[in-house]
Amino acid sequence: MKVGVVIAAAGSGVRMGAECNKVLLSLHGKPMLQYSIELFAGLEEVSSLVIVTRDVDCDLVQGLVEQMGLNGWVQVVPGGAVRQESVLRGLRALPADTEWVIIHDGARPFITAPVVRRGLEAVREHRAVGVAVPVKDTVKRVQDSLVVDTLPRAELWAMQTPQIFSYELILKAHEQASAQGLVATDDCALVEALGHPVHIVPGEYSNIKITTPEDLPRSDEPAVGFGYDVHRLVADRPLILGGVEIPSEQGLLGHSDADVLTHAVMDALLGALGAGDIGEHFPDTDPQYAGISSMVLLSRVMALVQARGLEVGNADVVVLAQRPKLSPWKAAIRASLAQALGVAETRVNVKASTCEGLGFVGREEGIAAQAAVLLRARRS
Ligand code: MG
Repeated sequence: MKVGVVIAAAGSGVRMGAECNKVLLSLHGKPMLQYSIELFAGLEEVSSLVIVTRDVDCDLVQGLVEQMGLNGWVQVVPGGAVRQESVLRGLRALPADTEWVIIHDGARPFITAPVVRRGLEAVREHRAVGVAVPVKDTVKRVQDSLVVDTLPRAELWAMQTPQIFSYELILKAHEQASAQGLVATDDCALVEALGHPVHIVPGEYSNIKITTPEDLPRSDEPAVGFGYDVHRLVADRPLILGGVEIPSEQGLLGHSDADVLTHAVMDALLGALGAGDIGEHFPDTDPQYAGISSMVLLSRVMALVQARGLEVGNADVVVLAQRPKLSPWKAAIRASLAQALGVAETRVNVKASTCEGLGFVGREEGIAAQAAVLLRARRS
């Protein structure tokens, strides 16, 4: 049997509150879309794979495919204005000798091989198969805030993807829908409109569609991150720690404002996100970061944290400096970091240590900082 896969990945991040396509958001350190690609690429039954994505995301998705070593096997196709149009473009891009098609949403990263195989087995007999789970909630029809009908729950199933079809049948269903201006929210409905029966196989409740930020935490365990940074002490530079300017004869040298403590905090956040380090995000060879306040950079890292539906649980930081004495400034630094991290001051702890005159810190050649943070699913 010749099986082609179409992954629909042309959505925007609007409901996720993200600036990018949500399927490119990172989930446990890799793009959400990668999970589906890996699953289908690993199934021996699958012979071709088409990803339909927005025009603006084609290069990024192509880059991901290349990085996965699947270049040449996976096709990346620009999508249409709506999902249905995108899927049709994907179907048309499959090889002409395709017999069976698996249509899957890139925003369902938790799909498993057993579910796909269940569908592939059933499709040979039924030609149109949807994966679905029984609805747990009672569903009512509501108009103008008034219940007009209570639907019998025992008959209700929530449709998921994949949906699996004979290639000939689904192509005909999509082309007819397109010609008649029929719009549906899943592919099975277009086959139903042809009068062809659709068979259901049980899916898994864990096969959720990531739609809003609340969907992500269910899959995200708390994560800790650690950061470390050092900057050299020189004359005629300000000393800024955690966004607070501290009177000092010497300040820190660096491409930005050299706020060594904020750099350690950013690295800890990126570490917890599994997203590399600040050198990768804000290269010190890039003129746009010359003299920039590190608190501005921290706010950009926090935007990444928020886009993934996460928040800071707590942060613990240490500044290693022989001079100046930092105890009078600890409260201000704590307040400044707490505000930037979006947490109460009680969730931020600031420590300072001299190094007993030892090493580069002891010789007052530089200041070092360490930070640990916890990220967790957003609760508010
Ligand atoms: Mg630095």
